[in-house]
Amino acid sequence: MKKALIIEDHPDMLDVLSRQLEMLGFAVFTASNGEDGVEKASGEKPDLILMDIMMPGMDGREATRRIRSNPMSKDIPILATTVLFRESELNQCIEAGCNDYIVKPFTFEELREKIQEIFR
Ligand SMILES: [Mg+2]
Repeated sequence: MKKALIIEDHPDMLDVLSRQLEMLGFAVFTASNGEDGVEKASGEKPDLILMDIMMPGMDGREATRRIRSNPMSKDIPILATTVLFRESELNQCIEAGCNDYIVKPFTFEELREKIQEIFR
């Protein structure tokens, strides 16, 4: 069973994403802030990370940079989940090291397609 780590500060969003990833067959781990997420990325070695970008404290771009700088977690695919939609802001997610992004709000179908693309 593939493992997914969801890093998301909004409790309701974390709940929804957890259920959606379970429906896609993942064993789900969660973190509600960047620091915890960076730690779990190297500790749990997930096959996929969903990364919220807007979080208080360490934001998703900084958390992504840290995950990429750690040999234990540097190759894990990261999908950014973000309310940002300007091209420059989305490019910053990619520059930070995310493989791709999905703009909130998104449907279950859109999420499934993005994840399929990442594993293709
Ligand atoms: Mg957030």
